[in-house]
Amino acid sequence: MKTYEEKECSKLSFFRSENAERYKEYAWKNPHMDGEEVVWRVNNNLDKEKYAYDVSVSNGNSLFVLVNKYFKLPDDYCPSDLVEADGLPMRSITADAYRRMRDAAKAEGFSVSVSSAYRSIDEQKQLYNKFLKDAPASEVDKTCARPGYSEHHTGLAIDVQGSIPGGRNIAKTPEGPWVRENCHKFGFILRYLPEIVEITGYDAEPWHLRYVGETVSMDMKAKQIKSFEEYRERFLIGKDI
Ligand SMILES: [Zn+2]
Repeated sequence: MKTYEEKECSKLSFFRSENAERYKEYAWKNPHMDGEEVVWRVNNNLDKEKYAYDVSVSNGNSLFVLVNKYFKLPDDYCPSDLVEADGLPMRSITADAYRRMRDAAKAEGFSVSVSSAYRSIDEQKQLYNKFLKDAPASEVDKTCARPGYSEHHTGLAIDVQGSIPGGRNIAKTPEGPWVRENCHKFGFILRYLPEIVEITGYDAEPWHLRYVGETVSMDMKAKQIKSFEEYRERFLIGKDI
């Protein structure tokens, strides 16, 4: 591990000279952080407050689109190729991968199904406001995305459930470990792991899967990279995004 030095880090393919001052400041606040980590984190705006630094997402249809508490989809965004799997809407590439995963699980005696998939920005608004009636925004934000900032808008995210209905129950079923150990073989990643709560701003969600394609999901597993934010910045920027 090497701490941040501009001369060394400027050789990284994802170093952005316009962020040079922010790298320095973030490294100063995080003196033990690896220099490469400083760069990918700042490029993801993690030096800024969540929900206080909006970037408008223009590549909603990209397989590698990033939607989180910094990157917001336009209010009128809707994927153009929604189909249904388990009676719920999602992009066709997500549905194909999901069906393969579900069938593989079934062949091993596990029952995986979808409890939530594509959600429109209006639907998310209703969901978020419903939670807001019972808890302050600071609490709701740990479990529910604000409208426009949810991965469910992309049609690439699904919540899955096991033999007890309700996505949140998957951790209580044998399907939870099965999904965790196998989803990458079908192009999915667990997007909200307990180890990266500070990056995502969400409590762990063992039911929330994001389709990124098998090349990326297998490579993330091989490299043991937990967050899509990190992988995308280090290995995908400049490619097909
Ligand atoms: Zn979800």
